[in-house]
Amino acid sequence: MPHAFDSSRYEKLKASGDLPSPRGVALAIIRLTQRDEVSMAELAHVIKGDPAFVGRLIKAANGIVALTRRPVVSVQEALMVLGLPAVRNMALGFSLLSNYRRGACKGFQYDAFWSRSLAAALAVQVLAQRNRAGAPDELFSLGLLSDVGELALATIYPAEYAQVLAEARRYRELRLTDLEHRAFAMTHTDLAVAMLADWGLPKVLIEPVRLFETPERSPSTPGTRDFALLYTLVAGRLIADLCCAQEADRPALLARLVETAAAIDIGTEELASAGGHIVMLWRDWVVSLELPAGTPPDFAQLLVKGGAGRAAGAQPDAAESGASAADPAAVPDEAPDSTVRVLIVEDDPAVRAQLRSVLQESTFTVYEAADGRSGMEMALEIQPHLLLSDCAMPQMSGMDLIRALRATRIGRNVYILLLTDMDESGRLIEAFEAGVDDFVGKPLEPRLLAARLRAGLRVVRLQQELEREREEIRRFAAELAVSNRRLQEVALTDALTGFPNRRYAIDRIQQEWLASSRSGRPLSCMIIDIDAFKQINDTHGHDAGDAVLRAAADALRGALRGQDVICRTGGDEFLVICPETDLSAALACGERLRSAVDSLGMDAGGRCPKVSISVGVAVRDGGMGDVDALMKRADEGVYLAKQRGRNRTEAIQQVGR
Ligand code: GH3
Ligand code: MG
Repeated sequence: MPHAFDSSRYEKLKASGDLPSPRGVALAIIRLTQRDEVSMAELAHVIKGDPAFVGRLIKAANGIVALTRRPVVSVQEALMVLGLPAVRNMALGFSLLSNYRRGACKGFQYDAFWSRSLAAALAVQVLAQRNRAGAPDELFSLGLLSDVGELALATIYPAEYAQVLAEARRYRELRLTDLEHRAFAMTHTDLAVAMLADWGLPKVLIEPVRLFETPERSPSTPGTRDFALLYTLVAGRLIADLCCAQEADRPALLARLVETAAAIDIGTEELASAGGHIVMLWRDWVVSLELPAGTPPDFAQLLVKGGAGRAAGAQPDAAESGASAADPAAVPDEAPDSTVRVLIVEDDPAVRAQLRSVLQESTFTVYEAADGRSGMEMALEIQPHLLLSDCAMPQMSGMDLIRALRATRIGRNVYILLLTDMDESGRLIEAFEAGVDDFVGKPLEPRLLAARLRAGLRVVRLQQELEREREEIRRFAAELAVSNRRLQEVALTDALTGFPNRRYAIDRIQQEWLASSRSGRPLSCMIIDIDAFKQINDTHGHDAGDAVLRAAADALRGALRGQDVICRTGGDEFLVICPETDLSAALACGERLRSAVDSLGMDAGGRCPKVSISVGVAVRDGGMGDVDALMKRADEGVYLAKQRGRNRTEAIQQVGR
């Protein structure tokens, strides 16, 4: 049963000042945007007072503009793209995120909470872009704040809420909201709804927050906007849960997700692609906010390819794969697309450790080498996407390593980040000429390094995408070539007999004519015409005529020599091309063909009538100017055979002349 929440309690809580609330610039933004006459310039001015928020706002705006558009780079542009309500809600969300990263509630994992909320925000936003349940930017805030009641309970009642959470973990069959109600006479849902209303979020966005954990209680029906919004939030939260869940919990979550997505018109394939997109955005965000990312599932693998064996957590674990640096055998042959291999080449163990700690926050698979030469060997073996190289090292300097690597096919696509000491900055031009993509100065500043890595990662992802597209084009071209070949075959083949047709015959005999001109070797041909075929058709019907044609073709095929080429050139007419064959051999061959057809018996029912052929044979001689003359002579042979009573093999030319 839903719990009744006494709103005067909320007022008291609010008055106590214990509730999570936006501060500083965010508060100013919220106040400003509540005024009707606020100008964009005024708002932009206030926003610029918080550089972190500026970055997040622009990032969020870029998350929703079409890929084809030029990216948003200024606060004003972000404001135009997002609109006032979205900016206000984002200010609220990000302010809470910044100010409530830590707290006194022991059982509440603040960073994990924000990481999951961020996954929900992005999931709801991406899903809304696909099913148009609502404005994607508004839904971002909805996802981000939908669980804010839990944070509120952890903030107001740190000790008691820690106990409630412990109980919920121990007795998983009990609902968290029931335990909360027993302890505080209110639930995180009650609080979230009251807080969002207090902050001025529209009712249409608050209703889904009230219902997303118990959507079966919603009165909304499929096809309505309320329904789409609610179930988009349910699906988004499930995606967030999947991103953060233990592997054992994933199958049940996945089944619920597929069912929920279907209810909002998102099929499995689309869900897989949305999931991949969400994970990519989420990783980017958690790195920039320094939140934990865990190992999100590979949605495409889970949903489309049905990789049951890899059910979840398909990405190699960053910490685990770090160990593979010491074990080259563990280097994967082909890492999944979303894994980025990073090679650190640095002789200073302290810097290596520092780099490792930045990289392990994310999904990089990290390999290490302590000098330029072993760095080169390892690069050729593991084929990294990103290379972080020190400048001065024993054995082989960073600059030499980069030059050598760029000279290889493998090294051409690696994104190279050079680590330079301040006194080496004068060599930067040389470094860029050697093939460096970017540099970062020592001592390393983790946030700057993370930002540079993100820039590199974007390039790597683009390259991977490009490679995938290229692969697709290659596959498409190969398929096209196969179908073109098939089409060509069809265009040059006679359907009834399966022999090449007239077009092919003319081409082929021309080629053989040229070949015989070059080699001086003889070329013969024969023309075959079925005897009294009209009569067969007239007496037995056209179908019987076809059967006779097929039977004659089979007999001819069986009696033909390997090097000869037979084509159907007309209704009951065939051309046989006999390369490197003189007249007597061709006559013998023609006679064999005639006899093969002549010996075809009638079939049992008499449906296939008796058939014979007349064969005219000719050989190329000095008096012939072209291939037509040769065929004309063979044709005259057929005429002679017909004249002499049919079922004969004749040549106009004399053997031996
Ligand atoms: P001849 O011994 O002098 O060659 O007499 P013929 O009756 O065979 O005369 P001709 O070669 O001129 O006749 C060819 C006939 O073949 C004409 C046409 O009706 C028939 N024909 C052409 N193509 C097909 C076909 O695909 N199927 C069938 N059943 N008949 C065809
Ligand atoms: Mg005929």
